[in-house]
Amino acid sequence: MPFENLNITEPLQRALTKEGYSTPTPIQAQAIPHILKGEDMMGIAQTGTGKTAAFVLPVLQRMSQEQKVPAPGFPRALVLAPTRELAAQIDQSFATYGQFLRFRHTAIYGGVNQGPQVRALSRGVDTLVATPGRLLDLMDQGYVKLKGVEFFVLDEADRMLDMGFANDVRKIVSALPQKRHSLFFAATMSPQIGELARRLLTNPVRIEVAPQATTVESVEQRIFFVDQNNKDALLLGLLQQKHLKRVLVFTRTKRRADKVASVLFKNRIRSDAIHGNKSQNQRTQALSGFKSGRLQVLVATDIAARGIDVEEISHVINYDLPNEAESYVHRIGRTGRAGAAGTAYSFCAADERNFLREIEKLTRTKIEQMDHRYHSEHAKSAVGAAAKPASKKSRSVPRSFGQKSVHRSGPRKSRNPAVRR
Ligand code: AMP
Repeated sequence: MPFENLNITEPLQRALTKEGYSTPTPIQAQAIPHILKGEDMMGIAQTGTGKTAAFVLPVLQRMSQEQKVPAPGFPRALVLAPTRELAAQIDQSFATYGQFLRFRHTAIYGGVNQGPQVRALSRGVDTLVATPGRLLDLMDQGYVKLKGVEFFVLDEADRMLDMGFANDVRKIVSALPQKRHSLFFAATMSPQIGELARRLLTNPVRIEVAPQATTVESVEQRIFFVDQNNKDALLLGLLQQKHLKRVLVFTRTKRRADKVASVLFKNRIRSDAIHGNKSQNQRTQALSGFKSGRLQVLVATDIAARGIDVEEISHVINYDLPNEAESYVHRIGRTGRAGAAGTAYSFCAADERNFLREIEKLTRTKIEQMDHRYHSEHAKSAVGAAAKPASKKSRSVPRSFGQKSVHRSGPRKSRNPAVRR
C-alpha cells in the first residue's frame, strides 16, 4: 500500500518521495489514519519501526490544515523525549518531513547553552521537541508556556520512566490544557506504563507492532562465551574482520565504555565513546563521525544509545550483556533497521550467565553459540553465585582492564581473527 492511500497531503507526500519512502511501515499504516481523525493513541513500537514519522506526519498535516502564527513561547505541538539525541532526531524529522510546509520548529535539551533555544522560542515555534529537565527549566524561567499546546506526544515513555522522569512528566502534563490531542509511545508494556497512559490519554486506540519483547527478526544473533579478561582480545579480533563496517559496542557502565574506547584507540581502531558524562559537543562529534563512516566503532551505554539514528549499523556488539533483558531488545534493534540485515554479537562471561538466561526467556529464543578461540566453558556452564555479578564493591575494577598486554597487542592477524565458525 503506498502513502497516497493514507490521505497524506501533497507537501508531505513530496517530502516522503524526496526521502525515497514510498510505502508506510506497519506502525505508520496503522497509526496515521487514527491520528488524522484526532483520536488519542497508545503505540507499542520499538525504535526502528518508523514510529517517528508515524506521529510527525499526521501532526504536521493537522497543524497545516489550520494555519496559525504561534505566539512567542507558546508551541502548538509538544513532543517529550527522554534523551537529547532522540529530541534532536525527532526535531530533524519535523524538518525533513515538513520541508515543503511553512512552520517553525525547535528542540530544547540540557547540556548546551540555553541562549539559542530561548531565542528560537521567543520567535515563536509551531513544534517543540524537548527533554523533560530543560523544558521544566525554561518553563520556570517563563520562556515556554504550554497553554496553547494542541498536540502532545510522549515518546519512549518506558525509557522516560527508567530514567527517573516520572515526576517531571507529571508536572509537564499538569501544565497542558485539558483539551488536547495526545499520543503515547513505548517500546514495551508494563503496569506503570499502562497507568501513565491512562492518565494522559482519552479513549485511546491501541496499536502494537512487532509483538512485545521479541527481537527484531532481521537480526542475526550470536553468543560468545568468554572470560572477562579475554573480552578485549575477542573484540579486537572481531573488529579486524572487514565486514564489521559500522559497529555499535555496548558496555554496562560509562567507565567501561571509556576503557573499551581507549583499548580500541590504542589499537588504532577508529572509534569514540558516547555516554552521559560527555559534553553535548563531544557526543555530536562522535555521532557525526560514526554517521559519516569516519569512525568504525561507537562505544555506548544503553541510555546514550537511545535515539541514535544511524542507518546501516552492520553490527551491534554487546561487550557486556545488559542486566535488564529488555535492554537487549533495544540494543540489537539498532542494527537491521528498516529491513536491512544486521548482526548482533553478545559476549557472555560467567558472571553474566544469568543475564543471558533472562534474555533467552524474554525473547523466547535460544541464541546460537559462536565457536571462537577465546571460548570459555566456565562461562557457558556457570550457575548459582558464579552466574551473577559479584557485589558492587568487588566489581568496581573490571578484571579485563587490568590485562595490559591485551591493550598493546590484539590477536595476531596471521592466526585469523577470533571467529572460527
Ligand atoms: P524510527 O523508528 O522512527 O526511529 O525510524 C527508523 C528509520 O526508518 C529511520 O531511519 C527512518 O528514516 C526510516 N523510515 C521511516 N519511515 C520509513 C518508510 N516509510 N520507509 C522506509 N524507511 C522509513
